[in-house]
Amino acid sequence: MNDNFKAFYHCHCKQCQQLTGSAFASNIFTDPDNIEWVSGEGNVVTYEHPEREFSKAFCRECGSALPFVNKTKTSLIVPAGSLNEMPDIKPQANIFSSEEACWLKEGLEAKNFSGFPE
Ligand SMILES: [Zn+2]
Repeated sequence: MNDNFKAFYHCHCKQCQQLTGSAFASNIFTDPDNIEWVSGEGNVVTYEHPEREFSKAFCRECGSALPFVNKTKTSLIVPAGSLNEMPDIKPQANIFSSEEACWLKEGLEAKNFSGFPE
């Protein structure tokens, strides 16, 4: 994957909350053909919602989120956490903030531990 990323958004929509099980999805957008699988492509499982405009790809071996081409074939969507290296692009916006998880802000302000709480 070349580092010519076009956008980096934290999406707070309800769909992304349900797909990730978390407060938001951190997705980087690039060209649909900007990927070369080195190995493991056969382990990619893709879920596409039958009616709505969302998809999800993950590894059948370890469950990790993986890049996928969106339904309209206009972008390769890369879950930021799936990258091994720091991308050149930084998060640019929080989108669908009107649907933000009601527990997000309190969670960000909660006490931090470097591992599990003692
Ligand atoms: Zn979303």
